[in-house]
Amino acid sequence: MSDKRDYYEVLGVSKDANETEIKKAFRKKAMENHPDRNPDDPKAAEKFKEATEAYEILSDPEKRAAYDRFGFAGVQSTFSGVNARDFSSFSDLFSSIFREDFFGDDLFSMFFGGGRQRRASGPQKGSDLLMNYEIEFNEAIYGAKKIIEVPIKKTCQECKGSGAQKGTSPEQCSDCQGSGVETVTRQMGFTRYISQQSCRKCKGKGEIISKLCKVCKGSGRSKENEKIKLEIPPGVDSGFRLRIKNKGEDGRLSGGRGDLYIRLIVDSHPFYKRQGDNIIVEASIPFPLAVLGGEFTIPTPYGPEKVKIPKNTKEGNILRLQRKGIQRKTPYGMNYGDYLIVVHYDIPKKLSDEEKKLLEQLKEAMPLPKEQEELFKTLIDQSKKNKVDY
Ligand SMILES: [Zn+2]
Ligand SMILES: [Zn+2]
Repeated sequence: MSDKRDYYEVLGVSKDANETEIKKAFRKKAMENHPDRNPDDPKAAEKFKEATEAYEILSDPEKRAAYDRFGFAGVQSTFSGVNARDFSSFSDLFSSIFREDFFGDDLFSMFFGGGRQRRASGPQKGSDLLMNYEIEFNEAIYGAKKIIEVPIKKTCQECKGSGAQKGTSPEQCSDCQGSGVETVTRQMGFTRYISQQSCRKCKGKGEIISKLCKVCKGSGRSKENEKIKLEIPPGVDSGFRLRIKNKGEDGRLSGGRGDLYIRLIVDSHPFYKRQGDNIIVEASIPFPLAVLGGEFTIPTPYGPEKVKIPKNTKEGNILRLQRKGIQRKTPYGMNYGDYLIVVHYDIPKKLSDEEKKLLEQLKEAMPLPKEQEELFKTLIDQSKKNKVDY
């Protein structure tokens, strides 16, 4: 048996709830459980998904009628199944769920500070934009000031965003009287299904443009490259987001621009590897230094550092220089990562005459390891004793 919860129960509405009540209930659940707002609660994502599924069924008169009559069996084939794992991020999931004509109200602006371009009578803030931007390792370490060009959709200057040719204006759609929605009634057997869908004549826009603007071809927007100043603070890592206020898309009717987010992607470095605020490097040292212990100098992004090597340092051992890793300003003061060195023994391929002479002496002076010597002796004795002559 399915352990799915009843859709009405999921949204917390009664069986005879009307469309507005269902929409309201869903919006509340979606707000509470949106994964971006509950990063530490894995159950929130499940609940979000559950509510979405319930809404998708109950908000559609046809699907709702089928669900009322036959339960889950009645809607199984119709529900597309939104699987969180199919989306690279919850924003993707979210935007795919809240498709443009699916909701037609202010959910987007609540979460993203902006809104999809849609029918709206009042001023509306423009959409936020998110852009990935690659920076060099050193720029991430030391910080940088840059000017970048961002393609931004702006209101078309020619038609002021209406999409209609200069001197003309869009007319209200006569089929839907500007609502963008048409109601379709269908009789199937004894059941009458009423469903609402996007108006076919105006494609849900509520208005018809008879003469399109020549510059934007009716979209009302134009794409422009805008120069944006970036200030990258020192110590940032991949995934860091810079927010540039009011540099997103243009809003409607002086609703103001959305924000621009730049997500930094830090390039790798041939020597320094990063793990959070720690720097990890692999360093080769001559084996006498590892055996006898000593000191050597290693570069760090903040200058050279002396490394003390304890005697008998083994291949693969990790030495730690505390607070010599990434330096980063936080609201609580400076933060210092560590600098970790993975030690490797170096077997030299080329030797100077001097090195060769010393190694020859060492070879004579150094027998095979003592414990191994004893084991070898035992095994050789055993092989002599057990040998059978045929
Ligand atoms: Zn235009
Ligand atoms: Zn229409």
